[in-house]
Amino acid sequence: MESYRFLILGGGMVAGYAARQLLEDGVPATDIGIVSADDVPPYERPPLSKGLLLGIDEEQDIYINPPDTYGKGGVGLHIRTTVQGLDIRAKTLAAGDQEFSYERLLVATGATPRTLDIPGSELPGVHYLRSLDDARSLRQAVDTAKRAVVIGSGFIGMEVASAFAQKDAETTLLFQGERLWDSFMTPELSAYFARYYEERGVLIRANDSPQSFAGDTKLTAVRTVSGETLEADAAVAGIGVVPVTDFLEGSGLSIDNGVVVNEYLETGAPDVWAAGDVANYQDTLFSRRRRIEHWDNAVEQGKHAARVMNGDRQPFVHVPYFFSDIFDLSYEYWGDQQGADEVIHRADWDGGSIAVFWLRRGRMVAAFVMKRPDEERDAVQRWIRESTDLSGHRPALGEPDSDIAALP
Ligand SMILES: Cc1cc2nc3c(=O)[nH]c(=O)nc-3n(C[C@H](O)[C@H](O)[C@H](O)COP(=O)(O)OP(=O)(O)OC[C@H]3O[C@@H](n4cnc5c(N)ncnc54)[C@H](O)[C@@H]3O)c2cc1C
Repeated sequence: MESYRFLILGGGMVAGYAARQLLEDGVPATDIGIVSADDVPPYERPPLSKGLLLGIDEEQDIYINPPDTYGKGGVGLHIRTTVQGLDIRAKTLAAGDQEFSYERLLVATGATPRTLDIPGSELPGVHYLRSLDDARSLRQAVDTAKRAVVIGSGFIGMEVASAFAQKDAETTLLFQGERLWDSFMTPELSAYFARYYEERGVLIRANDSPQSFAGDTKLTAVRTVSGETLEADAAVAGIGVVPVTDFLEGSGLSIDNGVVVNEYLETGAPDVWAAGDVANYQDTLFSRRRRIEHWDNAVEQGKHAARVMNGDRQPFVHVPYFFSDIFDLSYEYWGDQQGADEVIHRADWDGGSIAVFWLRRGRMVAAFVMKRPDEERDAVQRWIRESTDLSGHRPALGEPDSDIAALP
């Protein structure tokens, strides 16, 4: 049995940043263990749908920690090791015939893509994207496909469609909603991005979804519910993810849309914390529970959990954030638009300099920002964090040339 003072279950982004934080805080490397189903050390996932697909980033660029962090005298890294059971009383993890014991455990098993259960799903040419392995085969497809169908208009779908289009594949973006990413974007934003994609050759197919994948030995077409046949040598489904908790059922941890933790990222079990995509945590800024599937959350919760596990018990208080890169655009988003009662667009649509502010009773709760001055980026984070009353400044907020960074 391998024993660790600090054991991290999962070897993804949370694991990479939590291990780094523990080391920075003086924990001896050999006191830290990582048990991971992956076949490589912890790496950054955002490049998998961006630079790595386009051949701008290479695999060696994406690792979170230097290679000598792990191994003899370093952090104990157990890759290709899938944990099947957690015993919170014995403080052990079981993985096949291996067993690991811990003093303190961080659960960081992330999330896994939702899959399509329709005829032809198993055909070569049908892809999902979560791991480096997935990205390797998708990169080949991006390099070679003449026609691609990307299913889902969330950030993965939009990024992958932009990669195919940039490599000159005839690309269709197929999704169920009325308009592009309707659960996140305002109608104005959806229309802006739909036009941006169409101008770059992407065919937008709203209100439709795949009914089957066609092909004898490999994918040749996607048949849609509306009756369309879209020829394709590659299809990618980016239709959301589910937290990886199946093997934790019955372990004594509370599972409800992820592993339930409080604002300290503590589960109810002694000496067990959870962080990242798998953690359903209490957000004290917005007074609600949430589970976030984004890079910044994995980084910040990974570091925070490490500090709490090491004795610095502070609540995790953080404005939710994510970013995405598509074609030559990068945008960012802070906060949570749920419950907003007002939306203000601050946009030069032709120049692509766009901010969208979501307010609730005059206070900013969320902001989308693209090609705006840095001072505005800083201001929106402050306004959301401090719940600043902006009700007297509506005209200025909506006027793209006004100076709003100096508002309260
Ligand atoms: C392609 C892609 C692009 C992304 N781009 C962006 C972006 O542009 N912006 C943004 O904000 N966010 C982005 N994200 C989201 C971000 O990468 C995730 O939120 C982040 O990786 C979550 O980190 P995590 O450690 O919680 O989970 P993961 O990084 O998924 O790590 C989970 C780990 O747990 C392991 N594991 C699972 N089950 C077991 C088990 N039973 N036993 C052992 N190990 C197990 C897995 O093998 C893996 O090592 C992207 C994600 C993907 C997949």
